Amino acid sequence: MKITDVRALQPIGENSPPDWRTSLGQILVAVDTDCGITGYGVGGGGMAGMHVARTVLRDLLIGRSPEEISQLWNEMYQATLAFGRKGIAVMAISGVDLALWDLRGKAEKLPIVALLGGSPGKSIPTYHTVWDNEGLSSAADHAGYKLHLGKVADPAQQDVMISSIEQARLQIGTDRLLMVDAWMKWDVDTTISISQEIAAYQIEWIEEPLSPDDLAGYAILKEKSAVPIAGGEHEFTSAAFGPLIRQKLHSVLQPDVCWCGGLTELIKIYTMANEAGLRVCPHRGCEIWALHAIAALDLQPLAETGRPWMTWVEGQPEIQKGMIELSERPGFGLTFDEHTLKFLY
Ligand SMILES: [Mg+2]
Repeated sequence: MKITDVRALQPIGENSPPDWRTSLGQILVAVDTDCGITGYGVGGGGMAGMHVARTVLRDLLIGRSPEEISQLWNEMYQATLAFGRKGIAVMAISGVDLALWDLRGKAEKLPIVALLGGSPGKSIPTYHTVWDNEGLSSAADHAGYKLHLGKVADPAQQDVMISSIEQARLQIGTDRLLMVDAWMKWDVDTTISISQEIAAYQIEWIEEPLSPDDLAGYAILKEKSAVPIAGGEHEFTSAAFGPLIRQKLHSVLQPDVCWCGGLTELIKIYTMANEAGLRVCPHRGCEIWALHAIAALDLQPLAETGRPWMTWVEGQPEIQKGMIELSERPGFGLTFDEHTLKFLY
């Protein structure tokens, strides 16, 4: 089998937010082969990510065998090293990597979960992310909820945040998980202070309180936060997750498989974290791209609900009574009809 083309497109999702999540949003990467199978993956970076995939990555991959995914990943990383390493270039690599895994599954007629040593059909609990307390009024059967404080996360609004968290715990009761997302907007002192105030509300984790670059800050939080710290949603490659795991700077690692380098990197992150006794809870884990790894590799599986505007992904399993499970369809188990999709770019 040889790769004949690498294509990248940005489909339009419904109610896609009017910010970078659209203008630099999720891209669909298709890898075509001479035996008629096309693998599909999703990466990020909008038109900039598409340009990386259509030029440097495409040039590298045409005529190559898609089977040696690790080798191709290393070559893609090397080819983008001068302008990549993190961010949009690695988001583009992620889409290609996932398409190569999809090809492998389709060629072997096996779901990705089986390639990773697991099996489909296992029910996985989910948690749902909400942007305000109103979002909790429709609380369904999820195992837990995460209150995203991105809109009020200024450290000066500490009292507002603490009362929202207290209210959230009252709304969902005591038998469900509650998490808090600070979206990189707090500082060390704010995090320590808030953690002490909210620890009584049984908070599973505080997510991304600091910039991903502030490893020194996270080292202080590891000792002084009264609530476990989660992070990694905006980190890239297993190489960068290495120090986070070795120094145990996060109790919960949250790679986004469509950004961090694809399934090839997510597998390495799982292996390192499992050996270190740390938890992995991939960003937006209900989306099919991470769900196969959660089903096969996760010792304490919990899948976050997906991006609601990814409506162009066909074949994504539904959440039923708060649980989600994989089908036996080969590859990632999705279908794309490129003729009926509408594209932003
Ligand atoms: Mg987050």
